[in-house]
Amino acid sequence: MIVAKFGGTSVADAAAIGRLIGIVRSRAADGPVVVVSALARVTDGLLALAPVVHAGNSAALDAAIAALVDRHAAAARELPGATLALPAIAEDAAALRRELAAALGRMLRPAELDALAGRGELWSSRLVAAALEAAGLAATWVDIRPMMVTDDRHGRATPYMQALGDRARECLRPLVDGGRVPVTQGFIGATVDGAPTTLGRGGSDFTAALLGAVLDVERVEIWTDVNGLMTADPRIVPSARTLRAASYEEAAELATFGAKVLHPATAQPLVRSGIPIIVLNSTRPEDPGTTIEPSAELERMGDSPVRSISWKPGITVVNVRAPRMLGAFGFLRAMFEVFERHEVVVDVLASGEVSVSLTVEDRTRLDAVVRDLAELGEVWVEDHRAIIAVVGIGIRSTPGLAARLFRAVQPANVEVISQGASAINMTFVVREEDGPDVVRRLHQEFFGSC
Ligand code: ADP
Ligand code: ASP
Ligand code: MG
Repeated sequence: MIVAKFGGTSVADAAAIGRLIGIVRSRAADGPVVVVSALARVTDGLLALAPVVHAGNSAALDAAIAALVDRHAAAARELPGATLALPAIAEDAAALRRELAAALGRMLRPAELDALAGRGELWSSRLVAAALEAAGLAATWVDIRPMMVTDDRHGRATPYMQALGDRARECLRPLVDGGRVPVTQGFIGATVDGAPTTLGRGGSDFTAALLGAVLDVERVEIWTDVNGLMTADPRIVPSARTLRAASYEEAAELATFGAKVLHPATAQPLVRSGIPIIVLNSTRPEDPGTTIEPSAELERMGDSPVRSISWKPGITVVNVRAPRMLGAFGFLRAMFEVFERHEVVVDVLASGEVSVSLTVEDRTRLDAVVRDLAELGEVWVEDHRAIIAVVGIGIRSTPGLAARLFRAVQPANVEVISQGASAINMTFVVREEDGPDVVRRLHQEFFGSC
């Protein structure tokens, strides 16, 4: 058995779904479980309805829902047999319309936002299942929500592995053993009470890995729009090259620091089993892609151990200056307790003689954090920053590498240098507007092209 996950661009339209059919057909003997994302940009389009609902604009709401449904109808019309999916999509869109109409004039609650955001996966999976079936592959549409039982942290829910394992094995194994191809949704789940949840943006990769782990598959294939994990985002560095192999740790570091090609948690469920993740390009299915596995042989990509550079914009730096407290017992604990209390995730930490700097991505609870931190010392916040991560084999212990790195970055100003313990990455903070240029400079320095 394998899991084959198709991202938004790999199901974006009829042509993409046509390619998906060819790929699934070529895997038929492997017993594929197909996981799909929403059609490209549909999740964004759905979430954009929230302010329309808040503004009470019923006409705009109807038009926007109709346009989203239309994208599915247009794709279906070009795929033989796929129009059979349209009544189910239309029915669900009508239900969505009713739910949102009942909320006109107010902000949607987190649970309602999840019910909204997850519609794209429900619709795309209907479309893909119908298209596969019509192409002669025995596809069965499977609602993942009763299997993907999660906690109730809407927008970033955590699945319960035991329940997922029991239910996925019970539901999916017999289908695959019977020669059928289950087609299910990434990204979404539901609480024990059945309230819809989502696993966080980009979470379909995580779904694929979770299913791969509990079904103990041979491999998890992540089909996307690039050739695999690359030396940098090819949108920023067109000459970026593909890594043939990578470790789980590398993939996690790159993803955590902005490489959107994988959700940061993807490798996590597979650590114990060592099941490989293969990142593949759905427009060039014959290319080998990147194999991510614990025993990967990591090749050098240039004249140094550096293997990839990623960046993450939209970062806020929180600085706490507490000259008398910094060395004192319990200061750092008190500081972290503030972040924990407000459930704000800290990515990078750097401490100096008298101050500590931390980076956060989510600004929603930042005001409350700053208020509480002010009891510990002087606090100031810097917005519009970006984290740059340079990832490679043992790069922290490579003599001269840091000097070379910071020379290459000039004249951009480096603001926070992380002192984390990971041997495979070096992270620092720059102004957001400098980010792409810094990535290009580093790529030029370490891989000789940009
Ligand atoms: P999908 O819809 O298939 O999940 P995503 O858009 O989430 O695809 O992720 C693929 C994108 O990730 C690529 O188009 C590329 O621009 C971006 N990306 C960022 N960093 C990297 C990297 N290091 N290697 C490959 N792709 C990257
Ligand atoms: N469709 C979801 C998103 O856009 C999940 C995913 O694509 O992985 O975030
Ligand atoms: Mg993605």
